[in-house]
Amino acid sequence: MNTPPIIGIDLGTTNSEVAFVHTTRPEILREGDDGILPSCVGVDDDGRLIVGATARNQAVAYPERTVLSVKRKMGKEKEIPLAGKSYSPQEISALILKELKEKAERIMGRGVAHAVITVPAYFTDAQRQATKEAGAIAGLEVVRIINEPTAAALAYEGGNVGDEKRTILVYDLGGGTFDVSIVRIEDRVVEVLATTGDNRLGGDDFDNRIIQWLTRELKQKHHLDVTGNRAVLARLKSCAERAKIELSQAPTTRIEEDHITGDIHLSVELTRKTFEEMIREDIDRTMQSVTKALRDAGITPGGIDRILLVGGSSRIPMISSMLKERLKIDPSKEIDPDLCVALGAGIQAAREMGIDTSGVLIDITPYTFGTSAAEVNNEGLDPHVFIPLIKRNTKLPVSHTETFYTMVDNQELALIQVFQGENRNALDNILIGSYRFDLSDNAAGSMITLKYDLDLNGILKLEAVEKETGRKINAVIDNVFACEDPDRVRTSQAKINVFSPMGAAHNPGAETIPSDITDTLTLAREKLNVASKEDQDEIIDLMEEITDAVEDKDFETARVICDELDDLLFYID
Ligand code: ADP
Ligand code: MG
Repeated sequence: MNTPPIIGIDLGTTNSEVAFVHTTRPEILREGDDGILPSCVGVDDDGRLIVGATARNQAVAYPERTVLSVKRKMGKEKEIPLAGKSYSPQEISALILKELKEKAERIMGRGVAHAVITVPAYFTDAQRQATKEAGAIAGLEVVRIINEPTAAALAYEGGNVGDEKRTILVYDLGGGTFDVSIVRIEDRVVEVLATTGDNRLGGDDFDNRIIQWLTRELKQKHHLDVTGNRAVLARLKSCAERAKIELSQAPTTRIEEDHITGDIHLSVELTRKTFEEMIREDIDRTMQSVTKALRDAGITPGGIDRILLVGGSSRIPMISSMLKERLKIDPSKEIDPDLCVALGAGIQAAREMGIDTSGVLIDITPYTFGTSAAEVNNEGLDPHVFIPLIKRNTKLPVSHTETFYTMVDNQELALIQVFQGENRNALDNILIGSYRFDLSDNAAGSMITLKYDLDLNGILKLEAVEKETGRKINAVIDNVFACEDPDRVRTSQAKINVFSPMGAAHNPGAETIPSDITDTLTLAREKLNVASKEDQDEIIDLMEEITDAVEDKDFETARVICDELDDLLFYID
């Protein structure tokens, strides 16, 4: 076969794997090992870069020249110090990807330049972008980014997508991230109905709870304070992880570490019960996310046909029993939870190669994206109301257009901003992009349409058009990292001057406007983005006329135009 090979990669916080479909089934690529590459990068005694188990093994002795859990830093403009040099998170991740790519090339005996990479469903746009960049640095073109729970569902159901409708809950608890998703498989189509979780919760946190417990133990029994001692803490970390893993099979475990300092030996028993108490709050939180995901998907607990356990930490017995108690079914663990996501990535990679096309993958956005606009309401001028354009859990790809108006005559510019979040005040959300749109000399109330396109890779494109002149700007959210810097948000405040007086949805003053009129306007806004270009212009013109009439409190005229608009909208869907 001459098609260039595409590999599937699970680029995990803790561990990474690579899979490939040789004929029909995905296989984890191994070189006489378990196929699990610790996502760890370091520099050895000779100053050479090392990746995987060797790097992880030296992490205890040389934390200053080892990088763990780089995935937590993806999408942030952080420099990562490593043995006197400094790297971006993408560069470190690229070293892991390169290791996997070269392994695949050795095993397959040919060059590999394309990959499907999975990311947590909760990853932001910036984090997905950074993942693609890491691929590029490693010499891999990322043909598709897919969510980890989606990949897991593919691994379980990929070869077996029948006509029967099935609703699946994917519970994925790894080393640093937690995702829960509701996936529906119907008519050979795989669809994610809802996804939620916490990208800062995982096995590392459980290790840390055991470390805290051990630290207290050392203080009480041996009057030893190890809080600042990194070397000791690193040793406690491996003890803690070993104990935790053991407790997934045994009711008790003994933690022994000789010469923790000088002649002090650590020897203590930890029971599963005590461990469960330590992590109960964390696990309870994951169960709350399960409830939330069900609610978001509009599924009752009884509506779940299957639960998939994914991620190494999902082996903790308490998790199975809590899920079983809630959903009344036994979770499936047939596929190794550590390898499940990579196998699903392998299946998707095969599909991209045209090998296995059974079932189409539909994905959704885990976040709401929108812009900021000024709004006049009963309390006066609110300068930064968040106007969502693409709502959470919307199927991808999606395109949405919203209409705005200039506030003053000859307004020189509009600041087009992109926020991610759910808060009504735009400034409480995360600013991920900000673009200056220079305007022509138009009267106040001139129309600007703003369109967002969000694709399956989570790449957001925007287009703002000044209607009078057709002048426009385009932008792609690319290398614009999630902005949590409050200073940057503040400097842009003064310039926000796009005006959005229309529509009940984002106009609290709308109570004064009769509801039949606002209903028509809301419907018009909804249908605007699916309408033809011609219809769009007409809809916008009519909306404008209605708004003018409403501003004059001439509801009679507004209603007449509403009727006309309703007629037009009737034929659009
Ligand atoms: P990630 O997807 O974050 O890379 P993995 O799915 O590889 O993570 O899971 C790694 C985590 O799973 C680690 O925190 C590890 O300690 C934990 N883990 C692995 N096996 C077990 C087990 N048997 N019981 C509990 N935790 C486990
Ligand atoms: Mg994982």
